[in-house]
Amino acid sequence: MTGKESKELLTDVVSDLSKWLPFGNCSFDPCSPIKYGNTAYDSDSRSFLFSAGTLEFELDPCRNFAPFESIIPVINLFHEACGHGLQQCVMYGKQDDVLSKVLCMNYCACQSSDKYYGAEFVDYVDDPTYFKQPYEMAAQYIGLRWAYDYLKTKPLPFDLDAAFVEYQKFRTSNGDGRDFIDLDPMSKTASAILGQYEKAFPSVVRSSRGYNHKVPVLEDAESYDDDLIRFQKHLGGGADYLGRLERCNDGMRQDWMAAAVYFRYHPDRLKSFPSISGLDVDV
Ligand SMILES: [Zn+2]
Repeated sequence: MTGKESKELLTDVVSDLSKWLPFGNCSFDPCSPIKYGNTAYDSDSRSFLFSAGTLEFELDPCRNFAPFESIIPVINLFHEACGHGLQQCVMYGKQDDVLSKVLCMNYCACQSSDKYYGAEFVDYVDDPTYFKQPYEMAAQYIGLRWAYDYLKTKPLPFDLDAAFVEYQKFRTSNGDGRDFIDLDPMSKTASAILGQYEKAFPSVVRSSRGYNHKVPVLEDAESYDDDLIRFQKHLGGGADYLGRLERCNDGMRQDWMAAAVYFRYHPDRLKSFPSISGLDVDV
């Protein structure tokens, strides 16, 4: 599909999702590359804005994009709006659901530190730590699943399953060289890729998040600060909270330790997450 047609496809998604979602709006982000999506909360309107980058489509409307490229922003928008939207507006409010608690604790842990989350980008290569966060993996799973179901209803000039396989191949080998899963060469359909996600998810939940506070940050190294670093400084040289956090090989326990620090500095936020507010989240 051309850049123009790819943008038109996304226009349908933006319009349909904005109609269907009770908790937010969707839009384009023409200044960001197609691999970027974003979820932002607008406290004035008390609603979420979900967006997907379309930069390459804007710059090259006549160029023919590969099918997997045309669907990147579609998957991204479903990742943001249905993955993170559902987490924020439904799951994190549930008090009796174990998966909601796991994802909510992981999300709050990531709020404590960009490094813990894996927010750094070097030449558009993602920080591998990002791919060890269960709430991101869950959002990507929803993004893939619902984007596929949506696109299945559209007349497309290419085979959708083949495009999904190419998309996954791009993310795991031709593109950034890393993702939530490796692509099994036997996976030839979107459903097979989703099956890989389901199989890998429990081990991502339990395994180490890969946090390393000693890795230098790229920008503003001198001034870089976050809640975890602030807490370590508060404890003083004798304490080794960040070392214990790093060495802990149970991801859920790590999330608890990092989330506890987050709530220490933002105690008012705990009531926003009924899913975990009954738990004794303390350092
Ligand atoms: Zn995400």
